[in-house]
Amino acid sequence: MDNNRYDRYDSHRPRKRVSRKTLRRRQLTALFIIALLVLLLILLIAHACSGKPKKEEKGKVGKATTTTTTAVVTNTDPAITTTTVTTTSADPVNKSDFKLDKYSVFIEVGETDTPMVQQYPDGASEADERWSSGDNTIATVDDYGHIKGVSPGTCYVTLRSAQDANQEVMIKVTVRGDGTTNDTASPQSNRTEAPEPPVYDAEGLTYVQGVLIANKSYSLPSTFEPGLEPLVYEQFQKLSSDAAKEDLKIYVGSGYRSYSDQEKIYDNYVQQDGKEAADTYSARPGYSEHQTGLVIDVNTIDDAFGYTPEAAWLAEHAHEYGFIIRYPQGKEAYTGYKYEPWHIRYVGSKLATKLYNSGQCLEEYLGIKSEYKE
Ligand SMILES: [Zn+2]
Repeated sequence: MDNNRYDRYDSHRPRKRVSRKTLRRRQLTALFIIALLVLLLILLIAHACSGKPKKEEKGKVGKATTTTTTAVVTNTDPAITTTTVTTTSADPVNKSDFKLDKYSVFIEVGETDTPMVQQYPDGASEADERWSSGDNTIATVDDYGHIKGVSPGTCYVTLRSAQDANQEVMIKVTVRGDGTTNDTASPQSNRTEAPEPPVYDAEGLTYVQGVLIANKSYSLPSTFEPGLEPLVYEQFQKLSSDAAKEDLKIYVGSGYRSYSDQEKIYDNYVQQDGKEAADTYSARPGYSEHQTGLVIDVNTIDDAFGYTPEAAWLAEHAHEYGFIIRYPQGKEAYTGYKYEPWHIRYVGSKLATKLYNSGQCLEEYLGIKSEYKE
């Protein structure tokens, strides 16, 4: 205690003398620390400032793309992008006056495909086509637009007008693996050419450009009972087994439905919800596409299916097996039906791919209606 007191006293006394020096030293130290802190703060602000513009830029780019089209959100996804690119003309890649029959190309290594120019910018013609590939190690393109797959991957091929360099259009090229890669479309998959469905020889059927139509405008006779087309089931099994390789379960929820099956279903709905409501989600007997034997409802018939990875895979790959998502989102005015992510219709891979690439639904593509007459 004493010692303590002495210490205190002792330290107190000399303090008075040294205090000015110490004070000065302390002040200097404090100043130094403050200066350091200020410097640090400046550095931090400078860092934040240099980072900000980048962020803003990013935001701007994002904004710009999303305002030009509502669907560019999926741009990072390899195959979904292609749908978006093709369906939205407002997309930046598609701003020119060039109109092509397709804006995305899917080829195997060694395979060739050629987008056809359907419209040229003013004053330009076939002779003004200037083709170039963004990555010749993935795909090459010649003067005539023949795109050839070199190695698996994705790149863009650009078509420019020799008259006006601003007139350019880009084609997304996806080159699939040749078996030595882990590409999703490796040859172990069953993605081979899916043939066109058979043409039925029966009275009262409507074929438009070789496609059997069953919608609200074109009905099927009650006597037409083809059953589920074996080719359709075969192709579906290929699809299903390839999906299984990616741990996805796609199975038949509902396939063929006869006229009388549909009659029972529809009448049930009418009793439940009334005719007007039933017409928005269920077909009247004779008007159901399921009666064609070319249709499968996969998994659970529920809007929630649309949010599953199975639905995403199906939307992206169904065409490779000859199927189309028959009632796509946003096409209600054409199809007469709300979005049904589970309802796939077999048309063969040629037409299916055409529709997939163009983003058109069947009615839109064929220029036909789907409306009940009363
Ligand atoms: Zn269905």
